[in-house]
Amino acid sequence: MKMLINGKGINKEDKIDVINPFNNQIVGKVPLGDAKDAKDAINAAHKAKKSMEEMSSRKLSRILYDIHQELKEEHQEISKLITLETGKPIRDSKVEMDRSLQTLLMAAEESKRIHGETVPMDAAIAGKSVFGFTIKIPLGVVAAITPFNYPVNLAIHKIAPALAAKNTVVFKPSSKAPLAALKMAEIMDGHLPNGVVNVITGGGSVLGDEIVTSDLVNKISFTGSVPTGLSIARKAGMKKLTLELGGNDPLLVMDDADLDVAVAGAVGGSYLNAGQVCIAVKRIIVHEKVADEFINQLVSHTRKVKVGDPMDHETVMGPLIDENAAINVEQAVNKAIEDGAQLLCGGNRDGAFFDPTVLDHVEQDMELVQKETFGPVSPVIRVKDLDEAIEVANSTPYGLQAGVFTSSIENAKRAVREIESGSVLINKQSTFRTDNMPFGGFKMSGMGKEGVKYAVEDMTRSKMVVIG
Ligand code: NAD
Repeated sequence: MKMLINGKGINKEDKIDVINPFNNQIVGKVPLGDAKDAKDAINAAHKAKKSMEEMSSRKLSRILYDIHQELKEEHQEISKLITLETGKPIRDSKVEMDRSLQTLLMAAEESKRIHGETVPMDAAIAGKSVFGFTIKIPLGVVAAITPFNYPVNLAIHKIAPALAAKNTVVFKPSSKAPLAALKMAEIMDGHLPNGVVNVITGGGSVLGDEIVTSDLVNKISFTGSVPTGLSIARKAGMKKLTLELGGNDPLLVMDDADLDVAVAGAVGGSYLNAGQVCIAVKRIIVHEKVADEFINQLVSHTRKVKVGDPMDHETVMGPLIDENAAINVEQAVNKAIEDGAQLLCGGNRDGAFFDPTVLDHVEQDMELVQKETFGPVSPVIRVKDLDEAIEVANSTPYGLQAGVFTSSIENAKRAVREIESGSVLINKQSTFRTDNMPFGGFKMSGMGKEGVKYAVEDMTRSKMVVIG
């Protein structure tokens, strides 16, 4: 596939192989873009700003609906591409496409609702007989930088709100999974003026540095790891920033929880996309009174997770993104066992596959749960009461989402008040997310909110108008 700059497909002699982690076959190649390609894409987006500023909201909304329609027709093909390039089970890739279409529709709707507000100028001494109101105007060029794990929906969460607010876009997908996102961007480009959506592929730091330090880029919307997010924040200067970074989300199970529901939440949340989800359940904090029963059920359900060929519709869990990722998880698990955790099931690696794994007697200071372990692991930390559960939940530098299973409204209220994270979910695991809810972490998990309405808001600036 080619990069997309100013409405043209751009190729390079040097290419990046995109590898299917299930069988190590090359599923596609994308150009290895360089700093000049990034500059060209930024210049094209800068030049195309006028075409968006002059477009009526009515026309823009129609275009977004048309893109939705064409993308819907490609649902099957793009879902398959996601599975081939990431190893995500096909049934989850289809869900990702359903969500992507929904996100796009929400942006099409939102594009007609962008407005400022009247200011009661005469409430101030100097404002007598003066009219005042704000208008919302585009930012200009928005850079969208995305990770490998949800290559289409995470890109649409940035690009669609940017377009809805009449911005132009430079998009850099992950080199590990650029194919489905490129296909999606090609469809968008076919409906929009040249240069409105540009896509560059290549090394993260080479392209990233050019984007992050360019004076022509007005906003960076980044989803990815904490170290990359921090490096962007340090270099971005006065650009507006949205940073959706890593998570280390806890699932709290209190002694009054419905254990069947909590176990289902733990299993669904730990192994979705082989645990490679920012909001995956990464720590399970269980009241000691129900710990034995909970863990028995957790192990029994974990053993039933169907691992295998991601193209098979029955498969629940496929490989990780590559063998290195699986080795990292293996090392983190082995270290926890050396430090005293007890392996109850799983723990084995085969190439890029890592078995769904349950560890008991994990301590809150072990690396496995202090750092973000991006793999299919359920580390159980036993606690004596809610105080300790909340203390453990808050004991990492992350704060994305947290799930709390309890039947007590008082426990729920305390958890909502005291857990330091962007969302607290009662009787839902942290992987629960709808694409319209405000989404974004506290602490090292990031800054700013996504969720279509909130992202659109963030893609505009307010201009004050005064009429004397
Ligand atoms: P990553 O940080 O390695 O890469 C993300 C993107 O940044 C890629 O496109 C990469 O090429 C690019 N990049 C790399 N170096 C760069 C630089 N110096 N400047 C600019 N861009 C650069 O992340 P990953 O491994 O692809 O994804 C996994 C991480 O993403 C996990 O930490 C996960 O929790 C996080 N994530 C967060 C959310 C969220 O919404 N909070 C969602 C999904 C994933």
